[in-house]
Amino acid sequence: MSVAPRTDGVLVDRFGRVARDLRVSLTDKCNLRCTYCMPAEGLPWLAGPELLTDAEIVRLVRVAVERLGVTEVRFTGGEPLIRPGLVGIVAAVAALEPRPRISLTTNGIGLDRLAPALRTAGLDRVNVSLDTLDPDRFAQLTRRARLDAVLAGLAGAAAAGLNPVKINSVLMRGVNEDEAPALLRFAVDHDYQLRIIEQMPLDAQHGWDRSTMVTAEEILASLRTRFVLSPDPAERGAAPAETWLVDGGPARVGVIASVTRPFCGDCDRTRLTADGQVRACLFATEESDLRAALRAGADDDDLARRWRTAMWGKRAGHGIDDPTFLQPTRPMSAIGG
Ligand code: SF4
Repeated sequence: MSVAPRTDGVLVDRFGRVARDLRVSLTDKCNLRCTYCMPAEGLPWLAGPELLTDAEIVRLVRVAVERLGVTEVRFTGGEPLIRPGLVGIVAAVAALEPRPRISLTTNGIGLDRLAPALRTAGLDRVNVSLDTLDPDRFAQLTRRARLDAVLAGLAGAAAAGLNPVKINSVLMRGVNEDEAPALLRFAVDHDYQLRIIEQMPLDAQHGWDRSTMVTAEEILASLRTRFVLSPDPAERGAAPAETWLVDGGPARVGVIASVTRPFCGDCDRTRLTADGQVRACLFATEESDLRAALRAGADDDDLARRWRTAMWGKRAGHGIDDPTFLQPTRPMSAIGG
């Protein structure tokens, strides 16, 4: 399918999808050790000089916003809250014209302390990862006894005026899949928006097994044991989550079913890693190096052109169902949500 080249300079791919949503991984490090993400001992972290500096991150985001039509910027990790310059980076991005909407995906640890400063700096909304409300199960799943800190982070985000405050939950068979209704009850009672995510083959150990993945069908069936779910009249657009009204609304719940109900046809995401690589897709097996060009003195036009080229080659979808599917070598912890 040939797509007419666009003259407005946006990040279009050969299928005509336009990327407006930039995900920026600020670090590959994390202060949790979730079993479905990385081994207990952690991973060989990116070395300091490999990481983009705060100024380099802001410059690349500026190029994306001013020249490539990006309107949404999401900061991720690893764990973005452990990046010392986070508040300054958010403030600099909020000062860009046109101002992008700014969000953050975090495990919530320390968010109660940082939320007011992040809100003042320009952060609009936040997604907090939480897979269980049981302290023992939390410690088992993350190898850290920090559930209280995550719950405090959620409350701190709401108190600081971040809106919406969303919860991202991954369910695993025989581990926490029984908690879907309880997580939704908790979210509704606290005015958080729950997103339940099908586990994806992005773990560092390459141990993903489709049979242990809890499917969207199973998630919905579990939620329907306690709630009435009705179709959400709101437009979905390119949003990863399919949403339902809970008990007639206004509360909503979302399911992100990348594996069983892929949404790649409407994908509007582009990604920048903490070491300055563009990834056209979460499951990309190739990357384009902007850091080297930037450090070699490339100007903004050149960086923008390289980014467009990287996105033009984006594949139609993740290909998880293809017999030739290859899990990316870069783990989720170094790509970000
Ligand atoms: S898998 Fe890739 S193409 Fe599909 S929605 Fe995610 S980022 Fe987009």
